[in-house]
Amino acid sequence: MPVSLYDTLGVSRDASTDEIRKAYKAQAREKHPDRGGDAEEFKTLQQAHEILSDDNKRKMYDMTGSVEGAEGHGGGGPNGGMAAGGIPFSFMGGMGPFGMPGVSFDFGDMFSGIFGGPGGGPGGPGGPKRARPGKAPNKHSDIPLRLSDFYAGRELKLKFNQSRKCGTCAGSGADKSEPCGQCGGRGIRIQARMIGPGMIAQSTGPCDACGGEGKRIIRTCTNCQGKRFLEREKELTIQIKPGMHEGQTLVFPGECSETADFEEPGDVVLTLKRTEDDCWEWRDADLFTKVNVSFAESILGFRREIAGHPCGSPLVVEWRGGPITHMTILQAAGKGMPRKANPVEYGVAHIQVHVAAPEPRIWTTEERAVLGNLFGVPAEVANAEGVGAIAVSLTRA
Ligand SMILES: [Zn+2]
Ligand SMILES: [Zn+2]
Repeated sequence: MPVSLYDTLGVSRDASTDEIRKAYKAQAREKHPDRGGDAEEFKTLQQAHEILSDDNKRKMYDMTGSVEGAEGHGGGGPNGGMAAGGIPFSFMGGMGPFGMPGVSFDFGDMFSGIFGGPGGGPGGPGGPKRARPGKAPNKHSDIPLRLSDFYAGRELKLKFNQSRKCGTCAGSGADKSEPCGQCGGRGIRIQARMIGPGMIAQSTGPCDACGGEGKRIIRTCTNCQGKRFLEREKELTIQIKPGMHEGQTLVFPGECSETADFEEPGDVVLTLKRTEDDCWEWRDADLFTKVNVSFAESILGFRREIAGHPCGSPLVVEWRGGPITHMTILQAAGKGMPRKANPVEYGVAHIQVHVAAPEPRIWTTEERAVLGNLFGVPAEVANAEGVGAIAVSLTRA
């Protein structure tokens, strides 16, 4: 795994912008080529600072794990292309679930830094620290999806480097150990402190010498070289099934890296997120969109092809059902999103009609007669002149 930008600067993943700036300044002083530093190394340092001190670039870097991803240009993987939202995916051909053609894609190592990463070093001075009982916090991430992924279903592979306790030494890092001489193997240390005349307070804490383990390593484990944890590539399969919805979470219990801090690893929690922003609004299993029509079309009828329907082909909307008013909603049953899989049931597509205002014009006597005839208005009313008691002359404002 390449060295992360955080490692380059020597800061933690949750370092503040201020900490990043300070770390950069300190290192830049030391590694500047004018002071005999390596030019390439200094360039890497500058790049790390540039990306991590920019909120947007940092977010993209955290998500993609690559400098290219952070800079917002392509190159996710060998076949990398940029999908919606600037997230690099490398696509792997294949069939989607439910026998529908689909493309399963591979996230590459974009999640390495999120769920994986090293499990814990050989332990600081005094040996490894004791893991806290219980489970480590869960780690969350969004899975970017298109509307068509939710519609047809999709299988995704999520790959990352996962740390697990070394099996040979059961995570102790030792091939051979002996009881700690400082604490007699108990792992705790009792400290007495004078708090007043004749008054002594006693406190117990983990033994400094063995980090509370009660053991001292004589021979390091050869399988993990004393690192206690081993990293391996982990692949999770994510099944997006028709009927799943935006915001839904998928939980993979215990799939985060094991670390020295907790006894049990946390869960990987993935939230399904729709990334593209197109003309289709999605609520429950229904889809909503609008079409613009002219005044004449609102009377005579219209035909439109609405692109971007998640089924993959445009939705053809044809209306010959007589005059239609502005904001009327037309419904197409079965053209919404899947309500459930197996057998698949679809919701409704709602199409709101926006009617343009008519062009201002004055009807001729002939047009009046035709329209009067059409709408069943008697000719004497359609061509009314001087019917009322007061005749006023009107114009448009
Ligand atoms: Zn080991
Ligand atoms: Zn000890």
